[in-house]
Amino acid sequence: MSTTRDDLLKLHDWDELIFGGFYCLHCTPEDAWDYSVAWPCQPLLDAGVTLDDAREIIAQHRDEIEAKHQARAAEIKAKKDEEKRKGQQAADDFNSRYPIGTRVIAHPDVRPEFDAVEATRTRVVSTTRTPAWILGHGEPIVSVHGYAGGITLDHVDIDHDSPLGDGEILAHTLTVDSISGFDNWLDRIDVFAKGYWENVDGKLVNTGLRIGEKPGHVIARFGDTIIRRADGSFYVRTAVTS
Ligand SMILES: [Zn+2]
Repeated sequence: MSTTRDDLLKLHDWDELIFGGFYCLHCTPEDAWDYSVAWPCQPLLDAGVTLDDAREIIAQHRDEIEAKHQARAAEIKAKKDEEKRKGQQAADDFNSRYPIGTRVIAHPDVRPEFDAVEATRTRVVSTTRTPAWILGHGEPIVSVHGYAGGITLDHVDIDHDSPLGDGEILAHTLTVDSISGFDNWLDRIDVFAKGYWENVDGKLVNTGLRIGEKPGHVIARFGDTIIRRADGSFYVRTAVTS
């Protein structure tokens, strides 16, 4: 190919018409679609570009686009596979170190680093009830007692100082901030609970929560730890006061 021919081909670039056929971007006046000049245009034909050459150029261009699409698709698939591999690796690591029943502090909604108040209100002090597994896109998750569904492993901390003992599946520190959330949770699992009120200096004050129907009920005051046993029963570990 002569330089002149290559230069001409570059100058007289082509595009495809919506209803088929090709037009010369250089020879066709701007905004004049009615007068599109067919490609290869006269200057190219004059330079010796044959219709076969033109077909070849178009076919090559299409092959290049197709190859780009395929490369991009392969890239996306490789990235997804890598995400899955990393997620599965994290789940496998977790499972090899922490069997079902491991004590954890889970933050399903938000980690304490991002919102300490909300994290304390919504955290679940519990034990794992499933092995870790991955979602379709590779996110590793695990389920814990006292929470439906899975929680991303990034939001599940191993609780090395857990107050839980054998047969206990959940511990929850009752606070003014956490009482309504905890009350709602009891509601959902069909456990009767109501605010507990006491006479403090002549005034009736809400000091905690009564859990369960009388006479089998327990009373948790703010600061106490509520323990749920595997059999569904509750008991309260009183906060140590100095
Ligand atoms: Zn042209």
